Amino acid sequence: MKSPLLGAFQQPGNGPPHMLGPMQRMPAPMRRFTEHDEIDYVIVGVGAAGGVLLQRLARAGFNVIGFDAGPFWDTERDWVSDEKGSHKLYWTNKRITGGKHPLALGANNSGQGVGGGTVHWASFTPRLHPSDFHTYSLDGVGVDWPIQYDVLKPYYELLELELPVSGPSHFPWGHPHGYPYGPHPMGGVGNALIKGCVALGIGVSSGGPVAILNGSRADRPHCIYRGFCIQGCKVGAKASTLVTHVPDAIRSGAEIRPQSMVSRIELGANGRVTGVHYFDSDGNRRFQKAKAVIVSAYSIETPRLLLNSACPGFENGLANSSGTVGRYLMAQAGNVILGRFEELVRMYKAPPAHALTEHFYETDPKRDFARGFAIQTVGPLPLAFGKQMMTAKGAWGWGLRSIMMDYNHWADFGFLGEILPNAENRVEVAEEKDNFGIPIAKVTFNLFDNDKKLIDFGKKKTMDVMWAAGAQEVVQEARYAHLVGAARMGSDPRTSVVDQFGRTHDIPNLFVCDGSVLPTQGSANPGLTIMALAARTANYLIKQGAEIFSSDKRSMETSAIRYDLSPPDTWGHGMPRLK
Ligand SMILES: Cc1cc2nc3c(=O)[nH]c(=O)nc-3n(C[C@H](O)[C@H](O)[C@H](O)COP(=O)(O)OP(=O)(O)OC[C@H]3O[C@@H](n4cnc5c(N)ncnc54)[C@H](O)[C@@H]3O)c2cc1C
Ligand code: SF4
Repeated sequence: MKSPLLGAFQQPGNGPPHMLGPMQRMPAPMRRFTEHDEIDYVIVGVGAAGGVLLQRLARAGFNVIGFDAGPFWDTERDWVSDEKGSHKLYWTNKRITGGKHPLALGANNSGQGVGGGTVHWASFTPRLHPSDFHTYSLDGVGVDWPIQYDVLKPYYELLELELPVSGPSHFPWGHPHGYPYGPHPMGGVGNALIKGCVALGIGVSSGGPVAILNGSRADRPHCIYRGFCIQGCKVGAKASTLVTHVPDAIRSGAEIRPQSMVSRIELGANGRVTGVHYFDSDGNRRFQKAKAVIVSAYSIETPRLLLNSACPGFENGLANSSGTVGRYLMAQAGNVILGRFEELVRMYKAPPAHALTEHFYETDPKRDFARGFAIQTVGPLPLAFGKQMMTAKGAWGWGLRSIMMDYNHWADFGFLGEILPNAENRVEVAEEKDNFGIPIAKVTFNLFDNDKKLIDFGKKKTMDVMWAAGAQEVVQEARYAHLVGAARMGSDPRTSVVDQFGRTHDIPNLFVCDGSVLPTQGSANPGLTIMALAARTANYLIKQGAEIFSSDKRSMETSAIRYDLSPPDTWGHGMPRLK
């Protein structure tokens, strides 16, 4: 796990500063707790959710440590603007995959290191639609959430300012709203999407919503339109919790323990968790005491950790009295549609994420399936494009080489389709162990009738848009994107793992807060929703104060949103938005 060059944190004053972009340096020395300190919160995983939680809890004055299995990137030292060289950003440790329609695990699903998946996300940041929160009542599929859209709306608005999100002043789908930062200019793929949609009379959003700066803000420069977003954005224009929330967390007194793999959560005799066992950056076994634990380790590693923490009283996995830990894992259908154009497209000359349509998002009674899909720009760099062409066209050898030389004439659209939750789609732990001796995850995934019909329809529609844009040839690669679920929230402890605040039904001081808690997923990219939920969970924890550490009383009282907990100078800026 340890790499001598990557991820070491440089304290200010001891040699070169720790950089998070060409201009952003870590603001303060990082606080260090000892293992004997009983700290308030341990957060397992400093990714999309973990980064927001860490920042909020530290700002509110709690003693908090964020553990991450991967490095604490110094982006100037550790990152390169090279497609192959960025592979270290992904969680590539072994996971077993199976089922009738298995997920490809390894690269296109999760991140490793401080910032988690937000380091390599494309940063499309649409909100879920109001309908997503009650698909069962509305369409007879999926399950209703324990909260509705209106509950999350102020947190969406808050996170859109904190990241911030650029987008149109009027976004017409779901709950119509506008963005406080203006849209980005179009790249070649966005132009093609707009052309195709307009030709077919389909509405399209250009220039966002995407969490990329189109003007400098504080010590983060604006986008330079070079297309390396999925490789980490060395510029710092793309939002990740590494650059948006972690600096304020450190400034507010949080500690981050990078390259520290949590292997087990300890349950005490009183039915409350007492801390976490982990392997430090030298591979030594350690234990950190904590008054409460929050698991934010992603939809595969979160259920893996809970299942691996089985103990007397919870023989099937910690907090798993419902038997739903690991179940209802979801991925979105993410087929890539590639079109060849006579004119130059130059996919790399823009962020991959810059235009989309949610025209087909909602259930349409005229179709033979429930729910829907989005169509978005995708701008792979040459290696990813080559890999897509190997699948889409069977390209190999000289054929692959000549297609790659034609790269600048191709455009990619991503079809993002809602796959419904199903108990059979799940994460379990295998007999096989990783290099620490921890059982690895085994993932089973199947598509069911509604999913197959939706994918078939959506794929054809996306191809129609590509043809309508003027493509001379259109091919496609079947793919999945964005894993969520596997520790879902709900009101009923018999059918869900956590309540609406992320508190496990079984253990009063154990929380789950990340993409795992999503009961359904819509066809919006999940990151903004995950962060909005994390901000809401943090608000709840802060309001409850020390009660969480001692009382088993489960307050379901919601608290007023705390704008003063945002990273400084993020709240209250931007244009007044259309509500
Ligand atoms: C190529 C790509 C593009 C994407 N683009 C978008 C996009 O445009 N928009 C969008 O909304 N979403 C996008 N996503 C998805 C998005 O990145 C994830 O949904 C999101 O990051 C998940 O958040 P999380 O908090 O659940 O977990 P993560 O952000 O993955 O964080 C989990 C963290 O936990 C750490 N961890 C795991 N296990 C342990 C352990 N046992 N001990 C210690 N640490 C541990 C990991 O190292 C990681 O840092 C994309 C994903 C990929 C792969
Ligand atoms: S295109 Fe992407 S990688 Fe390049 S500066 Fe803009 S956000 Fe960063």
